Amino acid sequence: MTSSRSETLAPPSRIFLYEDPSSPTVDLGELRSHLKEGTGLNVETRPEFFSYYRDEDLETRASKLARLKVRNLHREQQDFEPLLGEVNFELRLLSDPSRRLPGILYDGFRFQELLRSLIPPEERSLRTLHLPLTSRLLATFDPNDRVYHARVIVCGYPCVISTSGIVEGPAKPKEFYRARRGYSILGMSPPTEALKEEIRGRFIDYDDDRMTEVLKGYVLQALFYHMMGDPFCEDRDCRLFNAHWQEEMIRAQLTSGRLCPEHREFLSRIA
Ligand SMILES: [Zn+2]
Repeated sequence: MTSSRSETLAPPSRIFLYEDPSSPTVDLGELRSHLKEGTGLNVETRPEFFSYYRDEDLETRASKLARLKVRNLHREQQDFEPLLGEVNFELRLLSDPSRRLPGILYDGFRFQELLRSLIPPEERSLRTLHLPLTSRLLATFDPNDRVYHARVIVCGYPCVISTSGIVEGPAKPKEFYRARRGYSILGMSPPTEALKEEIRGRFIDYDDDRMTEVLKGYVLQALFYHMMGDPFCEDRDCRLFNAHWQEEMIRAQLTSGRLCPEHREFLSRIA
């Protein structure tokens, strides 16, 4: 934990959790109870973010979303005019948020900016923590290796948590990639589902029964970011551990499933 203990806590006076209707195994009520009991804060659930804030016509919104697609993993996103097909695709998705679209990557910070612009001014304050869950896969550009990386959480305002990011963000066990590379070298397309079967249990998949439990940790990361500016912990058994591997995420969120003593103590002071 990097922040000093003397720093003033600023817990939000209310937290809104927004549903991801494309993830049937996510129990929003359970997430809410976990957060509420752990913090003593006022936590409410809301429908999916774009369905909740409707005061904009869907075509305008679809066009804004289509602009956020990452076109080149190795170049930081530039503005561009989306194709009609891309806008229509977003339009279909906005009309039915229970659909999931694998494989499309969005610029995480610009996505967050779009969400922020939809929150009315009276709710856009540090007293209110908005936590939208989304099935959209979000990525942020890392200036060090100059490439976009898929993320589970994009901290900022609001803190956006991606359910697809839980699957695609942290890396799967090394042998998965080794086997996939083997197929590519032979000029064959890798049988992804069969390869996943070989590492079953060692990563979180779409519609995984463990999704809600994993999300509890990321919701806490969002809260710690909001209060301290630092969502992460170095302790591998703390729910705030910044997992880069699926197995690290499973260890922090499921095997341990707890905060480290220091973060636990910290939370008990606001509860
Ligand atoms: Zn910790």
